[in-house]
Amino acid sequence: MTEFTTDASFASELDAADPLAAIRSEFVIPTGENGEESIYLVGNSLGAMSKLAREYIDIELDRWATLGVEGHFEGDTAWSRYQDLMVDQMAAVVGANADEVVLMNSLTVNLHMMMISFYQPTPQRHKILIEAHAFPSDHFAVESQIHQRGFDPANSMVVVSPREGEDTLNQQGILDAIAEAGSELALVLLPGVQYYTGQVMDMPAITRAGHDVGALVGFDLAHVVGNIPVQLHDWDIDFAAWCTYKYLNSGPGGIGGVFVNRRHVNDQSLPKLIGWWGTNKSTRFEMTTEFDAIETAESWQVSCTSVLSKVPLRASLDIVDKAGGIQAMRAKSELQIQYMDFLLEAFLGDKIQNLTPKPLAERGCQFALRVADPAINGQDVFEELRAQGVSLDWRYPDVIRVAPVPLYNSFTDIYRFVQILKGIMDNP
Ligand SMILES: *Cc1c(COP(=O)(O)O)cnc(C)c1O
Repeated sequence: MTEFTTDASFASELDAADPLAAIRSEFVIPTGENGEESIYLVGNSLGAMSKLAREYIDIELDRWATLGVEGHFEGDTAWSRYQDLMVDQMAAVVGANADEVVLMNSLTVNLHMMMISFYQPTPQRHKILIEAHAFPSDHFAVESQIHQRGFDPANSMVVVSPREGEDTLNQQGILDAIAEAGSELALVLLPGVQYYTGQVMDMPAITRAGHDVGALVGFDLAHVVGNIPVQLHDWDIDFAAWCTYKYLNSGPGGIGGVFVNRRHVNDQSLPKLIGWWGTNKSTRFEMTTEFDAIETAESWQVSCTSVLSKVPLRASLDIVDKAGGIQAMRAKSELQIQYMDFLLEAFLGDKIQNLTPKPLAERGCQFALRVADPAINGQDVFEELRAQGVSLDWRYPDVIRVAPVPLYNSFTDIYRFVQILKGIMDNP
């Protein structure tokens, strides 16, 4: 482990030694209205814009202007096949095969689409296991799916909570809850990384536990993709869904992604909402009404592909490749996490708590900071950080989320953030 020091010059040394340092220049760091580059630590909410995104968007606007409708079929970036340009890269980020991945819709819509296929309740087996602090949209999606099938969420939702006095979920507690629900459990739907605390779930163990009781297992990877490496296929996860506008920088409302395990991809007995974009590409325009499912996860596509929301993602995936892939990003991220742990401890001691678990295996790049002294209003601290040029976010009731991301945050960003926070906490 690197021996860190509290000197500002040490941050510069870490930046000088960082093999990914040059990647920062691929991005436009938001400046805010005063035109000064912020310390942008909110890639957990909306990733920064890549310069390549603008370039790729311009290409498609030009093609639209010149080719019109022919742009669907002509040229290297023909819109009808746009997914083909990027699916290998997307699959590599999540540890999947290309035929298991489709880019479509947005996250919550995709959770619904997946539950249509993978939540098949019976009177004997009708429960879905989620976590108590699930992102509200995930909770709503589950609740409404249970309702739609004629069941009652009060009986059919199993909710796991942190233990009394703890902020994060106990991993064994999740496995125990799965075992306890047993033969009544139809589906486990958990986040891969919890959005509030930044806790990483033990996805392989949860998947095994779910399968052991005969349930299917799906994950929401909103805070996973572009943050931590995962192996969806090898871990035998049934399905997953994610958004790409957080750590994959696809821009506001960017395209969502879905993983369907190969085991299920060609299972035509699965219920599915179908549309013309899920049919065989070579006969699609014969406009017949016989559904001939594409033999990949693309058969879950309903509508013609949303090209303009895929373009910035493709740019970002090209930059991920340039950075050496998700493993190289994670290597830098781990060093950034340890450096920020060190600085918080050195400069703020017990004035600031971090809810995020300490072991690297249980956390991604996000920190969930809480002001320890109840006499100091955490939201005021957050507002003051913003006033001093730090971009981060506040999550009710009392957490400041801070995420140094390896693609564009420097070690100096981390150092400056901690200094600003120290200044505020010294004079609250
Ligand atoms: C960001 C996030 C969402 C957002 O859902 P959209 O459908 O993209 O609006 C949903 N769930 C989780 C866990 C998230 O982190």
